[in-house]
Amino acid sequence: MTRPLRLAINGASGRMGSALLALLRDDARFELVHAVVAPGSGQDGQPVFVDRADGLRYAHDWVDAPALDVVIDFSSPSALAAALDHCLLHDAALVSGTTGVDAALEGRLAHASGRLAILRAANFSLGVAVLTRLLREAAAALPGWDMEIVEAHHGRKQDAPSGTALALGQAAAAARNTSLEAAAVYSREGQTGARIQGSIGFATVRGGDIVGEHTAMLIGQGERLELVHRATDRSIFARGALQAAYWLAGCAPGQWQLDDVIATSG
Ligand code: NAD
Repeated sequence: MTRPLRLAINGASGRMGSALLALLRDDARFELVHAVVAPGSGQDGQPVFVDRADGLRYAHDWVDAPALDVVIDFSSPSALAAALDHCLLHDAALVSGTTGVDAALEGRLAHASGRLAILRAANFSLGVAVLTRLLREAAAALPGWDMEIVEAHHGRKQDAPSGTALALGQAAAAARNTSLEAAAVYSREGQTGARIQGSIGFATVRGGDIVGEHTAMLIGQGERLELVHRATDRSIFARGALQAAYWLAGCAPGQWQLDDVIATSG
């Protein structure tokens, strides 16, 4: 039997980090060797698994990280940048779900993919991957219909619209031979004037404990098509990220997609 993959989690004390840790307890494919939390976090230095004698403790940086095969990152853009530096120094593959990444970091990630296997997804759920395919098809089949994307998340989410909403918009724009930059309308307030033909509108809902909901509306004259995905448990994202990490370790350098994992995992 092959040895388990040596895994690090970046953002280990967060909502997604905790969901990953819960799954890792019973996942023999991985050995968790490093778990990074934000500097100043109350968990820094505490044992990761209190009921185990493996000695693994949360760390606030990468200085003492042992050799590892793959990093899973669900943190913040600045924490992702630090994880990327570590992956580059030690040739580790990188799976990241962090959203709200600016153009400079996007550029660094693209450049790093010349040397590293990197897989990023705004949403690691299988259902959203299929929703994206369906939306591409609908956007191309109904070119004259107005398109609006509505997303809802818990009140502590830091960025808007969600990375998933933007990825859906990108997919739909490409299916209509345009770009999200050209088509997106992110806010409407006051005297907005009439809707711009061919635009893709975004609306954001924030509150309570909503894990993540995305609705793509295609609105015609007298009829409307709605494609809806509702995540009710964030373990779906954690499960998808672990599947992606297992698949990615050993892949050639490049920018890989969740679609690649789904296509080859059956
Ligand atoms: P969270 O706020 O609960 O957790 C963030 C984690 O990052 C915490 O552990 C925090 O300590 C750590 N962190 C923050 N700054 C840091 C720093 N400078 N150095 C080291 N660690 C740092 O957030 P979350 O809900 O777990 O989401 C994290 C990210 O993942 C967000 O960008 C979110 O949008 C994204 N997300 C993606 C998916 C997906 O499927 N792609 C799903 C859920 C969330």
